[in-house]
Amino acid sequence: MLRRTLFTLPLAIAAQQRKALKIVGLETDLKINPPRKPNYDALQALGIHSGTVTLRIKTDAGITGWASSSFGTVEGGPKVLRAILEEEVKPLILNQDPAFPRKIRAILNQGLQYQGLTGITQFAIAATDIAIWDILGKHANLPVWRMIGAMRDRMPVYSMCGWYYDNDDDLSQYKAEIEKALAHGYRAIKIKTGKYSMADDERRIRLAQDLAGKDRRVMLDANQVFSRNEALRRGHIYQQMGVFWYEEPLPPQDMAGYAELADKLEIRLATGENLYTKYQFNDLIQRKGADIVQPDNRRAGGVTEWLEIAAIADAAGIQLASHGGGDVNMNMLCAVPNAIYMETGGPQPRMINGEVTAPEVPGMATDPTIK
Ligand SMILES: [Mg+2]
Repeated sequence: MLRRTLFTLPLAIAAQQRKALKIVGLETDLKINPPRKPNYDALQALGIHSGTVTLRIKTDAGITGWASSSFGTVEGGPKVLRAILEEEVKPLILNQDPAFPRKIRAILNQGLQYQGLTGITQFAIAATDIAIWDILGKHANLPVWRMIGAMRDRMPVYSMCGWYYDNDDDLSQYKAEIEKALAHGYRAIKIKTGKYSMADDERRIRLAQDLAGKDRRVMLDANQVFSRNEALRRGHIYQQMGVFWYEEPLPPQDMAGYAELADKLEIRLATGENLYTKYQFNDLIQRKGADIVQPDNRRAGGVTEWLEIAAIADAAGIQLASHGGGDVNMNMLCAVPNAIYMETGGPQPRMINGEVTAPEVPGMATDPTIK
């Protein structure tokens, strides 16, 4: 009798787990933040208009999958995203089984193709996928990085700390922000360049390198603002100065320009935060337009698409660093063999020796009720 219980109980649980789940609801919350004092990169001001859409996908098993998507600058963006989720995604995914994320992606790609699968439409598809992986992780009672094939349980992080600020000609705020990041324990920092002259860039880089010292890395981000000629001219100087990587010198759509730059410069070229789906990454990679790709989990796609992008890059010998940080990125990066960094800022929970340890809550660690 005892023996029978031991053998039948796990089988009963397994049978129950195989029972199909069903999506029975989708809810969203919209939060518009009050304007704060902006910080700037070479392209834009961040913080004046910002907001977040939170997504909850409900299942008949009582498991809710959470995701959120934040905007740093587009005033109407969160409202558009909410409308796409409520009015277009919801009817497409109701009654689907969340255990089929690639099928759900195919349904969304087909259902939303009329309006195009890039832009805010992809923010909606990506958030849906992340919420679905949150359901799957909770159902399996595992953090997603442990389910999808872990490579590591911690990631090196760098701090995006060297912004442009109002009334900062003497770089005192710039310097204070870098010092704060180093005091938090970061072993790599990123600064913005390209807003003003090359001489201004050199002043900023030298100050950052002096503060960081020889054992810490400094990366640069130009946020798309250069022409091809200017990107090459400045790239040679950045290279001589020993910067670790040179990020997004050109508009993201200029793939031929990236290929030309990557060919002419030895410095690591990084880009990808404004590319959508594996098809655009594949285009960049086929053209040999980057040394490091930087997918964003709102634009590139969710977990499903991200892992495919990472694999395409890996096969081409290209490294990966996330655009942005947090637990969603940690859940993906820990399963990506060619990942080298997570981007982030501020003090990090679970940071040891310049690395963040992976979240251990089941799912994507997106659910504020179980953190
Ligand atoms: Mg960037």
